[in-house]
Amino acid sequence: MAGKRSSELFERAKRVIPGGVNSPVRAFKAVGGTPPFIERGEGCRVIDVDGKSYIDYVGSWGPLILGHADPGILRAAGAAMLRGTSFGAPTEAEVELAELLCDALPALEKVRQVSSGTEASMSALRLARGVTGRSRILKFEGCYHGHADSLLVGAGSGVATLGIPGSPGVPEAVAKLTIQAPFNDAAAAETAFERWGDEIAGVIVEPVAGNMGCILPLPGFLEKLRGLCDRYGALLIFDEVMTGFRVAWGGAQRLYDVAPDLTCLGKVIGGGFPAAAYGGRAELMDQMAPEGPIYQAGTLSGNPVAVAAGLETLRRLEEPGVYDALASKAQRLTQGLAERARKAGVDFSTVFVGGMFGFFFQPGPVHCFEAAKQASQPRFREFFAAMLAAGVYLAPSAFEAGFVSLAHGEDEIDATLAASEAAFARAAEVG
Ligand SMILES: *Cc1c(COP(=O)(O)O)cnc(C)c1O
Repeated sequence: MAGKRSSELFERAKRVIPGGVNSPVRAFKAVGGTPPFIERGEGCRVIDVDGKSYIDYVGSWGPLILGHADPGILRAAGAAMLRGTSFGAPTEAEVELAELLCDALPALEKVRQVSSGTEASMSALRLARGVTGRSRILKFEGCYHGHADSLLVGAGSGVATLGIPGSPGVPEAVAKLTIQAPFNDAAAAETAFERWGDEIAGVIVEPVAGNMGCILPLPGFLEKLRGLCDRYGALLIFDEVMTGFRVAWGGAQRLYDVAPDLTCLGKVIGGGFPAAAYGGRAELMDQMAPEGPIYQAGTLSGNPVAVAAGLETLRRLEEPGVYDALASKAQRLTQGLAERARKAGVDFSTVFVGGMFGFFFQPGPVHCFEAAKQASQPRFREFFAAMLAAGVYLAPSAFEAGFVSLAHGEDEIDATLAASEAAFARAAEVG
């Protein structure tokens, strides 16, 4: 239960903000109750306005890989801010960030910075359509690529959490151009290409799905998409807004060794500020204005404060051993949860990759959205509520990934596991 101040603030918020939140995923609609209003963050913890402290596995939905209020980030962003907050003119730091990104991601030769993941995937799509002269796109059920019209069809994240089939406001003429296939279903992707092969501009995919829980790509799935795009002349777009610098240095494309034509980045590369990017081979990126005819722009793109925070984040992630450290934290957490679920007699499956993890209240393994939906929602709600009460802040939805940061210590992970024993016992009591 949220405290008194949170409840009061939520009432006030609902009067002036739709649903009381500025992004639907922050609401507690799927789990019930009132979201705690956060006053501050400290390392791996957030503290709400009623003074309750939580071990945080949301991390602002992915960006905070160094933890909250990291001193290095505060210093870097503060120093940038003292020189001015925005110029709308080129700066040296954004060149450094672009160089770093192109260096880290095998498939990036040129990159354009934008302010949100939505903008990145929307722009990548426009580029794919612009260079191929084709209109259709193929996406996968339960993958979320931001809220651009073409990409809301069969989307994950809040769309899945709230059970919205397709959003009103997306014209049917636009939605019709989005073809859907089940995640990890290479045969379905092939069938789509057999039918619409010369009309498909691009295939967009989360190389590790993180917006319907966390689902790993089956061996060969990403390679198959690469092959289909090559055969039919479509562009392969990896939406690495979540996975970029989260699952590995250089993202999932490096981890799985599959090179997309275009890559979308966001979350971690902004270090907790609004920054995102899309990029790919130079010949493709040079089709964007002002070099080429395809238009995309942004008043705050490459914002110097966001770029400073992003650069600081990436420099810290470049240090040796960082991703091993993240993975061993995620492993300790997920293994510990699985053991306790087994002891409580609760069907449960869990995976992690780098600093990203997920779990389902079903035996698994889970390879697609349909399977994710088979997991027990009542058990998730029960577990979520018990964990929150015990001071563990998980995403308020069974269709989201969780995140560990470099600030999560073994003590906090062990405290999380201790809290999970009672939470699993409660979950075991519901169907
Ligand atoms: C979060 C996310 C987005 C959208 O990013 P915003 O910054 O929220 O617009 C797009 N794609 C993926 C894979 C994401 O996880």
